[in-house]
Amino acid sequence: MRARAALPAGACEGCGRCRSGGLEERYDCPLGVPPGCGYCSVPSLYGPPKSRSVEGICREVRGLLAEGVKRIVLSAPDLLDYGRDLLVEPEPLTDPRHPKPNYEALEELLSRLTELADFGRDASLMIENIKGNLVTERAARLLGRYLPGTPVNIGFETGSREHSLQLGRPSTPEENLRAVRRLKRAGLKPYVYFIHGLPGQTRETVDATVRTISESVEAGAARIILYRFQPLPMSTFSDRPAAPPAARDPLSHRIHEAAQRANRTLKEELVGRRLRVVVAEAYGRDRRLHVAYPLQHGPVVLLEGAEGRVGEVVEAIVVGVVSDRMVRGRLGDAMF
Ligand code: SF4
Repeated sequence: MRARAALPAGACEGCGRCRSGGLEERYDCPLGVPPGCGYCSVPSLYGPPKSRSVEGICREVRGLLAEGVKRIVLSAPDLLDYGRDLLVEPEPLTDPRHPKPNYEALEELLSRLTELADFGRDASLMIENIKGNLVTERAARLLGRYLPGTPVNIGFETGSREHSLQLGRPSTPEENLRAVRRLKRAGLKPYVYFIHGLPGQTRETVDATVRTISESVEAGAARIILYRFQPLPMSTFSDRPAAPPAARDPLSHRIHEAAQRANRTLKEELVGRRLRVVVAEAYGRDRRLHVAYPLQHGPVVLLEGAEGRVGEVVEAIVVGVVSDRMVRGRLGDAMF
């Protein structure tokens, strides 16, 4: 798939091969439009997804755990692409929607990895991004079985269906909302991403995005993450100007406010909850507090009573909200 928004006249001749051509054909546009979403450079830089072997990943994770690493993140543009390339080889995996996830390959990867440590206690195993269109009920249940309570990132970028298609995105906002519901039901913590100032942003797309931010919270999103559009080299939008800060653009400001409002509400729901956190360092602005990071991701915790505990995993009780990104906590009674 490729972006249709903000292309100069004549940049796309509408041949359609990037959307409906064969897998080999899709990758190269005759007019040189880069593959993938307009704001993203991953397909141009790295090419189609290729899965590493389960054995190779397990070996690396085993080594990291032996070094004392506390947080392992399976990083990829879409974890649900794992093993999909094997379903179409020797052709390249250039269709982000078909085939469906390779459930057997995913199950083997996650079952082997989760045997390597007591994840959730001494260390955490997390995943990064997944795309909403591949989140079937079966995929959500599989992730929930091996990674309960784990955050998972879903990019919406815009709340407008039309804008989404113009940007070349593989999933629509409706599919992403459905994915959030499924993942939440399966016991994961969906974090949702938006970008303000994208090419093609209008009053209508902003209305839809503000609405979608609140719908995503109702669907079960645990956090809203908002980026400002930056043109990336080798992406379709590489020669577009960077978006101004949200404070200087009335439309972007509305998205920024909606995200902040939603995050603050979500943080308030954390008050009283217990989190396992790693104590990182004394807080520069108030030495009585320590900066701590939840083992399974989450807001930064400014922790009271953690003197002499740097590097330890401890229990924190959330006692208040500092900002849309930070909470205040005190040391819980139970130690780990
Ligand atoms: S392959 Fe290139 S020219 Fe053809 S529809 Fe896609 S972007 Fe347009």
